[in-house]
Amino acid sequence: MQKWAIGVFASVDAGLGVHLDVAKELGISTVQVHSPHQHTRTPEVAQAFLQRCREAGITVTCVFGGFDGESYADIATTARTVGLVPEATRAARVQEMKEISDFAKLLGVGCVGLHIGFVPEDRQGTSYKSLLEVTRDLLDHVKANGQNLHLETGQESADHLLEFIHDVDRDNLFINFDPANMILYGNGDPIEALKKVGHLVRSVHCKDAKWAAPDQRGKGWGTEVALGDGDVGMETYLRTLLSLGYTGPLTIEREIAHDRVQQKTDIGQAQRLLESLRTKIGV
Ligand code: MG
Repeated sequence: MQKWAIGVFASVDAGLGVHLDVAKELGISTVQVHSPHQHTRTPEVAQAFLQRCREAGITVTCVFGGFDGESYADIATTARTVGLVPEATRAARVQEMKEISDFAKLLGVGCVGLHIGFVPEDRQGTSYKSLLEVTRDLLDHVKANGQNLHLETGQESADHLLEFIHDVDRDNLFINFDPANMILYGNGDPIEALKKVGHLVRSVHCKDAKWAAPDQRGKGWGTEVALGDGDVGMETYLRTLLSLGYTGPLTIEREIAHDRVQQKTDIGQAQRLLESLRTKIGV
């Protein structure tokens, strides 16, 4: 695969992300895909999707899990509903994530990704400790499928994410770094965070955002914007990735599924920006 191959976050069916046809039309060569719904996670669907990818010259690099009942309406709702952290749905979601790992195996993909949720702050608390246990259980299943698990960044500080990964203590747990999420959630400067966790970064999102007002950071969302229009600083971001030795795909993520026309326009803008920076930096 080309170094810094351009990618886009796509979907197998009606999940998050752009339709595969958009990636094909833009000539994008890699995709991360949002897992399809349970009833369509079948060998037949996997084979049909792979066939479409082959015809379009597209490689699937990671399959992301997501669950019914998750809502990103605001930060408090996100904390209450997203990932494996909410205890009422934890057991069922771990089981579903194992099934998503099995589906990724059908696609021949060696990576599954996840927003695990807001990892509890107290490392001695029962919620934190039981989250460690279920994460290890999931990682053992993922490992048996020959895969790594990548945690999406943003819902905790870089330091706390490192503590959690250290405490889980498994060799197939890594990071999908999303610089815009650090800004959206108000969890710290994305470049500084990347330098801290860079040794564990195995996949990345190229997404941009503007900070919330200083008194609102961590309480209200920042604003996601088209790549290059926000506060990440894409050239600095890419140069930092290079200094860390990261040459994997640059997966564009633009989370405005309600406006597919604008989404496609913005992904095209992102693609051109990344291609020009790749040339400028000489990768
Ligand atoms: Mg992301």
